[in-house]
Amino acid sequence: MSKKRIAILTSGGDAQGMNAAVRSVVRTALDKGAEVYAINEGYQGLVDDGDSIRRMDWDSVGGILQLGGTIIGSARSEAFRTREGRRTAARNLVRAGIDGLIVIGGDGSLTGANLFRAEWRSLISELVDAGEISAEEGAAYPNLSLVGLVGSIDNDFTGTDMTIGTDTALHRITEAVDAITSTAASHQRTFVVKVMGRNCGYLALMGALACGADWVLIPEAPPDVENWQEVLAERLRAGRKAGRRDSIVIIAEGARDREGNYIGSGDVQRALEEQLREEVRVTVLGHVQRGGRPSAFDRTLGTLMGHEAVNTILTATPDDEPVVIGIRNNRMTRLPLMESVRKTQAVAEAIEAKDYEKAMSLRSSSFKDAFQTFKTMVRALPHPVEQGKKRFRIAVLNAGAPSPGMNTAARAAIRLGLDMGHVMLGVHNGFEGLIDGEVEGMDWMSVSGWASRGGSMLGTTRRIPKGRDLYAIARVVEDHHIDALLLIGGWTAYEAAFNMLSSRPNFPSFNIPMICLPASINNNLPGSEFSIGADTALNSIVDAVDKIKQSAVATRRCFVVEVMGHYCGYLGLMGGMATGAERVYLHEEGVRLRDLQLDVEKLLSGFQSGKRLGLMIRNEYANPVYTTEFMCSLFEEEGKDVFDVRPAILGHLQQGGDPSPFDRVQATRLARMCLEYLIDHCDGGSSDSAFIGIQNGKILFHDLRDFDRMIDAEHQRPKEQWWLELKGIASLLAKTRPAG
Ligand code: ATP
Ligand code: MG
Repeated sequence: MSKKRIAILTSGGDAQGMNAAVRSVVRTALDKGAEVYAINEGYQGLVDDGDSIRRMDWDSVGGILQLGGTIIGSARSEAFRTREGRRTAARNLVRAGIDGLIVIGGDGSLTGANLFRAEWRSLISELVDAGEISAEEGAAYPNLSLVGLVGSIDNDFTGTDMTIGTDTALHRITEAVDAITSTAASHQRTFVVKVMGRNCGYLALMGALACGADWVLIPEAPPDVENWQEVLAERLRAGRKAGRRDSIVIIAEGARDREGNYIGSGDVQRALEEQLREEVRVTVLGHVQRGGRPSAFDRTLGTLMGHEAVNTILTATPDDEPVVIGIRNNRMTRLPLMESVRKTQAVAEAIEAKDYEKAMSLRSSSFKDAFQTFKTMVRALPHPVEQGKKRFRIAVLNAGAPSPGMNTAARAAIRLGLDMGHVMLGVHNGFEGLIDGEVEGMDWMSVSGWASRGGSMLGTTRRIPKGRDLYAIARVVEDHHIDALLLIGGWTAYEAAFNMLSSRPNFPSFNIPMICLPASINNNLPGSEFSIGADTALNSIVDAVDKIKQSAVATRRCFVVEVMGHYCGYLGLMGGMATGAERVYLHEEGVRLRDLQLDVEKLLSGFQSGKRLGLMIRNEYANPVYTTEFMCSLFEEEGKDVFDVRPAILGHLQQGGDPSPFDRVQATRLARMCLEYLIDHCDGGSSDSAFIGIQNGKILFHDLRDFDRMIDAEHQRPKEQWWLELKGIASLLAKTRPAG
């Protein structure tokens, strides 16, 4: 039987991460023994003539992971909207011998794809009748297997938690809003920022949550009052009164009021100027949101989706419904294409029909959850405690190495606690500070600006209290009448909390509810698939490696890049996948001399046949003997005149930087849940303690007593690490060329 021939095209608006998907489709297909073609300029290229259909090989998708847009071009095609256009497209595919098609685009592109597939048989028979293809050709292509990938910055597709390009757009939005916030704060100004999203408020909502904006207007949830202008102005005034220097309102393109009338950024500006009697500035972000290099997440998402698409197409039977690849709860899923398109359009229709409840109900649970969190955050102002409720003293502490997003979490917890009338205490310098009694009352303004700031404003240390330290802590807990403890941090925080829990029989004052919020770039904490800071660190790695790669264009050079993570290979593997490293060395897998020997041979043959750049990523503790230095010397010695080798130890730049939008959103979400947990337990007089986490898309609380059962204590990592299942895909795509 002849080889399966698969074609890929990108259509509609471009989105960051499309290139990662194209690369992944091409390489996975080649690896599985299929032939693969790219169709330039979307459907237009398919209609125009056969010339836009280009055979791809392993190297034709080299070096594209870090590029924005799509290297195979995208377009909107009027011709493809007509049956005639689609018939020509079918003819061109048959002539090229292609019977599998992967389309990356938005809802429009996928609707077109579905129609095309549904019409396929009739298009073929028309072509045979018209003599444009032979009867044999027609018989050889009775079906078209079709798989869709959603590439759209709006994240407006129902059934998938994220679409390719959304995360990068959110990066651009947070960068811009952070910049605006600093100027707005200098001048005590109000800014209205308009972002994309005609039928979907995802970018606006997450951008607002990530940047600590004061208000958001989204299509799915118009203000629930008629006089929204006055309510909004009142809210901003209250913020100013509490000490805020800037006010930011984020508005989605498709925002509207209850009556369905569009609300433009100008409307908000005019209303606020009238109410506040001050100048209000407008910034329309426009196409910068589509610009720039793809984020680490979008590179990985495109890669995983592309891989899944090829697997789907290669195992499809003619009767299979066309599917679209989505990500649900952090795992790839296959969704029925047409049903998903229909549901997506149903949201738009519900908004059009002013059935906002329905529109909101069709959104994912994390969207609804984020909206709830945002509403709580903007309401958060210093309040007296509710009548009949007890006022608790809740201490917040950072522990372990600094991790971007720690401040975001601390801010959210402190403001929410104050909003409910509790006394919020900040502990400086981690357990070191707690031992020394560095405890201070926090007010609403003491966390101002923390949402976007990297590092740890409270200060953090890596001391794990033991022995006498525990006496000191017990004293401080008593002296400050601490009722509950929120620990935001990494391994140090977890181990310390567990120690306190275990020594309760000796220290009655430890009988208070405690909760750990995972914040570590290493992502090595039990009970959570993600820890706060890891996404930022991955983006820092990706940024650094992109630059390192650019520095090497003129020489034949291999880089050995060392990344952090302690004994956990998350940053190594995911960093490798997002940068296109050809090899990652992880402690989990071990490093053997024979592997290194093989790697040297592969490097040599690669460079000898024209390759210019080698990229190996090594986890810092991958192997105690085969260090980064050792590996460099080994490769250098063996590479001799063929290539040279440079180490790049990324070091602490991975712990620094402003938190990514994902880390900010999750930090806020988790902090809110932690605070609710503590208050509930205080209310109920319970001293149960926990660590919180995100698993399968849900927020879960694990009993703190289970900590030691869930970990590999020697290597300070969880016993189960979900991401290890991605190893196979990473190494497949990293091969220099397919075997044979
Ligand atoms: P985005 O909205 O993210 O920019 P999209 O894929 O929804 O992306 P559209 O402009 O709606 O963008 O569609 C892109 C192309 O897909 C169209 O120019 C057209 O060629 C094709 N297409 C869209 N809808 C249909 C349809 N109903 N029938 C046939 N082809 C269609
Ligand atoms: Mg669209």
